[in-house]
Amino acid sequence: MDRRSFLKGASVGAAAACVSTVAEARPNLEPAPEALGMLYDSTLCIGCKACVAACKEANNMDPVISGDDLQYDSAKDLSGDTLNVIKIYKDGTAEVKDHEENGFAFEKRSCMHCVDPGCVSVCPVTAMRRDPLTGIVTHHTDACIGCRTCMGGCPYNVPQFEYDEAFGRIHKCQMCNQAGLERISKGGMTACAEVCPTGATLFGPRTMLLEEAKRRTNLKGGDTYHYPRGDISKPESFHEKDLDANYVNHVWGETEAGGTNVLHISGVSFDKLGMPPLGDRSYASQSETLQHTIYKGMALPAVALAGLTYFVKRNKDKDGEE
Ligand code: SF4
Ligand code: SF4
Ligand code: SF4
Repeated sequence: MDRRSFLKGASVGAAAACVSTVAEARPNLEPAPEALGMLYDSTLCIGCKACVAACKEANNMDPVISGDDLQYDSAKDLSGDTLNVIKIYKDGTAEVKDHEENGFAFEKRSCMHCVDPGCVSVCPVTAMRRDPLTGIVTHHTDACIGCRTCMGGCPYNVPQFEYDEAFGRIHKCQMCNQAGLERISKGGMTACAEVCPTGATLFGPRTMLLEEAKRRTNLKGGDTYHYPRGDISKPESFHEKDLDANYVNHVWGETEAGGTNVLHISGVSFDKLGMPPLGDRSYASQSETLQHTIYKGMALPAVALAGLTYFVKRNKDKDGEE
C-alpha cells in the first residue's frame, strides 16, 4: 500500500467509525431510583440568607467579607469558602417582588446535583461520584488530583478551586452528606432546607418535589396555597399564602441538561435569573458519545498512526535525498 492509499484508508475508516457511533449516542441517565433533592421556590425566598449561614456552619467554612461590609459574611458568589449563595435580579426601580419590569427576585446558587452529571463524567480519577441510589453528587478530596477538569464539565459553574491556598482543593455542595456530616444518610435533611423560614428551600424525594413544583406553577395570581417547610415527605409545618404574581410555567431542572435533583421555580424567567441556556441532552451523554466516537474502531489511533507514518516517511525520504 502506498502512502496516499494508506492515509485515504485511515481517513475513511475514521469517518465511518464516527458516523456509526453517532447513531449509537448514549442516552441521558435516568434519575436515581430513590433520588433526593431540593425545590427552591424563588417567590417564597425573602433573601434572609439564613441558608447561606447554615450552610457555612454545617460545612465549617469561613465567612467571606466583600466590599465595605466588614461585619457580616457577604459572599457574592460561590467560592472555596461558599457552597451556597443567594443572588438578586433587579430591574429599573426594583419595586415589585417577582416582577421582571421594575421588579426584583432572588435566586439560590449551589450544586444542582445533576441527574447525569458532567463533573462526574469528565473527572479522570472518579473523585466526583453520583450515588447510585439517591443521585447525590459528591466530591472526594482524597481521590482528587486537583486537575480542575470538573470545573469545565459543569454547566452551572459550580465546582470551585481554592486558588489562594498553596494546596488548593475543589469544593462544592455535597447535599450535606459528605463523610463527617452525613445529615441525609442519618435520616435528616439539608441544613439550608432545615433553616429556611418560608420553605423556599424544601428538601425531599425528587418525584415529590417535582409534583409539588408542577402544582405551584399551575397556580394563578390570587390563588391561595399551603406551602410546606423542611422535608416535603414529613413537613414540619405549612403556611398559607396568596399568590401575588404568576409563576413562570416551567420547572427548571425537570429536563435541562438531562435534569437535576435540585429544582427551581420562579415568577421571573430563568434567563433573567442567570440560568444558562441548556438543551435536554446532558453534557455527559454528549461528551462520552464524542469520546467513544473518536476511539470507536480505533479511529483516533488510526489517524494518529497515519500522521506519524507520513512524517516518518517524509523524513526518511529527505534523509535518502541528502
Ligand atoms: S451542578 Fe455541576 S457540580 Fe453539581 S452535579 Fe451538576 S455538573 Fe456536577
Ligand atoms: S445542601 Fe448543605 S452544602 Fe448544599 S447548599 Fe444546602 S446547606 Fe449547603
Ligand atoms: S433561608 Fe430560605 S428565605 Fe432565606 S435566603 Fe435562604 S432560601 Fe431564601
